[in-house]
Amino acid sequence: MQAPLLFTEQKETEMSFTPHGKHLIAGEWVSGESRFTSEPAHGSAYEFSVGTVDLVNRAALAAEEAFWSYGWASREDRATFLETIADEIEARAEAITEIGSSETGLPAARLQGERGRTTGQLRLFAAHIRKGDYLDRRHDAALPDRQPLPRPDLKLLERPIGPVAVFGASNFPLAFSTAGGDTAAALAAGCPVVVKGHSAHPGTGEIIAEAVHAAIAKCGVHPGVFSLIQGGRRDVGTALVQHPLIRAVGFTGSLAGGRALFDLCAQRPEPIPFFGELGSVNPMFILPEAAKARAEALGQAWAGSLTMGAGQFCTNPGIAVVIDGPDADRLIAATKEALAKIGPQPMLTPGIAQAYQDGQARLRGRNSVKAVFESTSEGRNALPNLYETSGAEFLADHALSEEVFGPLGLVVRVGSADEMQRLALGFEGQLTATIHMDAGDTPAAQRLLPVLERKAGRVLVNGFPTGVEVADAMVHGGPYPASTNFGATSVGTLSIRRFLRPVSYQNLPEALVPADFNA
Ligand code: NAP
Repeated sequence: MQAPLLFTEQKETEMSFTPHGKHLIAGEWVSGESRFTSEPAHGSAYEFSVGTVDLVNRAALAAEEAFWSYGWASREDRATFLETIADEIEARAEAITEIGSSETGLPAARLQGERGRTTGQLRLFAAHIRKGDYLDRRHDAALPDRQPLPRPDLKLLERPIGPVAVFGASNFPLAFSTAGGDTAAALAAGCPVVVKGHSAHPGTGEIIAEAVHAAIAKCGVHPGVFSLIQGGRRDVGTALVQHPLIRAVGFTGSLAGGRALFDLCAQRPEPIPFFGELGSVNPMFILPEAAKARAEALGQAWAGSLTMGAGQFCTNPGIAVVIDGPDADRLIAATKEALAKIGPQPMLTPGIAQAYQDGQARLRGRNSVKAVFESTSEGRNALPNLYETSGAEFLADHALSEEVFGPLGLVVRVGSADEMQRLALGFEGQLTATIHMDAGDTPAAQRLLPVLERKAGRVLVNGFPTGVEVADAMVHGGPYPASTNFGATSVGTLSIRRFLRPVSYQNLPEALVPADFNA
């Protein structure tokens, strides 16, 4: 076991969990030859084994072997396995919060909430597969006397696709990472998982992998069903998506990284689906009656949503479109006042903090943009910023519609409802789009809705998009670049569809019909 390295600016505190820094490959904790050091926001740094292409191969081979039993296990057995993972995560609750908060800088309360979301979604998937509706069972009974030709007996069933690669997200170290939504959906479907851990929270990944490892032992599941390869080198990710035994990829992260990996998936001799959840600016359209009635309340609430978790949410509402005039002035003033009260917040990694500062510099350097509330973020801490521009400038400059990951907002003042409509049409694909409206805004909202529906995976009225319910009717996805597959969601029970494939069984004797068809 490696001795913990002291993070220079912090006094070392006793941790109830000391990471050993190994990968989990098919039930074995494995060290690598080279090591990288974690970069916690506070507390001790630790050394972790760097992933290798050889480990990717070992994990993928084990996952394929595991699929032959796990892919045909009963739904009840898989549901029990998911619930046992949730129990094992809860059994490590305090240590998970401690290491997660240290590595990411997210407050303990956020980590506790995220843990509940993580165990909640594992249990939700257990209940979902027990019900069995997701199997989409269809039956066209044989019509032997049909003329001119008889119809065969056809039974359709959704089947798991095989080993799935999951890239843990930096901004949700629990709910979108090692045993997060992608892993839960794949395991629920019957697919073994190979996780590429995010190097921003390797210790958090390790302790969650321990929980999955314990659940595997308790449930007697094939150990190849889950592996965690720590990061540290780019060729781990590229080898993983190109491995011939991997059948699909779940990813949350940057547009550049996601696009590079998506292209690799498409270029494989046998292309596979890449379910990437990438960037989004989540525009809000503030209609005139709503602005008139509650500009101050809207401004304050926007500032809260924009700065929650240092703005590091994929659903962060980065852009507000409002009709120019005194109500817009009131809204902007209230937002500014609320933002001024927000202190510095640590960002997830030094790289993400730097990207935030670069994003701000990109806006600051433009004549078309005016500063409303400007601050200077230092080191890993982020302070909020608010800028404004006009509809014409916004439409003329694509850079203004690009995501700045962090607590930065841009107000777009438009001249009319028609201009707002043109702006909406100009947006790229989004995870969410929001309308703020009162009853008198209904005709304008009715015009806007068909446009927003084409742009976003989720359309909200009079709310804020941060906070994504894990539920049956949730869509967390959207047209590119919000995601690389706009027919899918990465949150909610519908996300299981990504890891299923329909198979039609023709004229099978009853003894061969898969048990799921009748159970
Ligand atoms: P990222 O750089 O895209 O990394 C995500 C994962 O993909 C990591 O495991 C990374 O490996 C891997 N990866 C990225 N590019 C790769 C490549 N070309 N080849 C192989 N593997 C690759 O995302 P991030 O580190 O989480 O954050 C960086 C930026 O992403 C943020 O500043 C923000 O703009 C955006 N972001 C967006 C969301 C969202 O929800 N939309 C969430 C988080 C971040 P390594 O660990 O080895 O780098």
